[in-house]
Amino acid sequence: MTRAYAASAPAARLAPIDVPRRALGPRDVELAIDWCGVCHSDLHQVRDEWGGAVFPMVPGHEIVGRVTRAGAAVKGFREGDLAGVGCLVDSCRTCEPCRHDLQQFCATGPAWTYNSTEMDRKTPTYGGYSKAIVVDEAFALRIAPGQDLSRVAPLLCAGITTWSPLRHWKVGKGSRVGVVGLGGLGHMAVKLAAALGAEVTLLSHSASKEADARRLGAHEFVATSAPGAFRRVAGRFDLLLDTVSAEHDLNRYLGAVKVDGAMVLVGVPPQPAPLNAFSLIGGRKTLAGSLIGGIAETQEMLDFCAERKIAADVEVIPVQAIDAAYDRMVKGDVRYRFVIDLATL
Ligand code: NAP
Ligand code: ZN
Ligand code: ZN
Repeated sequence: MTRAYAASAPAARLAPIDVPRRALGPRDVELAIDWCGVCHSDLHQVRDEWGGAVFPMVPGHEIVGRVTRAGAAVKGFREGDLAGVGCLVDSCRTCEPCRHDLQQFCATGPAWTYNSTEMDRKTPTYGGYSKAIVVDEAFALRIAPGQDLSRVAPLLCAGITTWSPLRHWKVGKGSRVGVVGLGGLGHMAVKLAAALGAEVTLLSHSASKEADARRLGAHEFVATSAPGAFRRVAGRFDLLLDTVSAEHDLNRYLGAVKVDGAMVLVGVPPQPAPLNAFSLIGGRKTLAGSLIGGIAETQEMLDFCAERKIAADVEVIPVQAIDAAYDRMVKGDVRYRFVIDLATL
């Protein structure tokens, strides 16, 4: 059993619980968890905003810790190594997406780190708001030493979720990238797009975030509530990355996309959004979505960030402060990722 923090029902405050972790298999590593980032997806799921949530739920998929034990057949990790776990803990490994390192799109559905089951479709999975986790080494990420690990943890979801579309849509020097929303995902999108050489504009519904946006690497800031804001950026972006967690009008933002450009949704508001065909046809625009990234791509992103000294801006919290952190997150009051110090559990 492992000490963890769980929600017992959608409206419940989180509380301590003991959850089972499987016995170490030959290909498994056991991690002692030091840090776990708090993603808005944790909040959506804990409050059952997407439907189908399973309780008790131990959220957390931005996990960084140390290897405490490695199974006999483990090749890539040794006791004492740093390691990370993101949103995925297993997949079928044989379907076409899995063979192409797109485990997040596994045809049978991957095993998510929490609010899911192992591939046996019976054993519940529990996330990183806990002291330890056991995971197949194929789903553990290598973390380079010498980094502030509390700031590395958010890369396991916020980092890869923004990195993957930036790479897929081939962002590089001279690309014009717009990022919608400056939260956990948004602030990583700004850092990563700027590091890839793009000209980055942050579109925010919080006028107060301009100085931060520029400090994080944005070249321009648009307060979307200001009069004429959307006119200023009409037809501007090759790629517009939408990280917003709440209802908003996609049609207005599509106006900011260039001819043949793309708007990519990574934010997942609970409500469906109306789409006007005119928003796409005048400019042959693409509206697309993207879901985290595969394991190899996650490793690529972690290595890039370690080399370029890129990490999240975080506010470390004790696990007991999680409900208050969720409330602040709903108000957009996160600068820019809460990270739980598991020493407090
Ligand atoms: P977050 O830190 O709470 O950031 C969300 C941001 O959205 C806020 O900071 C705010 O930025 C903006 N926003 C909030 N309410 C808004 C509104 N009513 N109108 C316009 N903008 C609003 O959340 P996060 O952890 O970055 O996650 C963002 C979303 O991505 C969530 O829905 C989450 O579930 C989803 N997600 C998806 C994936 C994936 O793989 N696709 C992975 C992780 C998370 P401003 O104040 O700057 O406007
Ligand atoms: Zn996440
Ligand atoms: Zn598969």
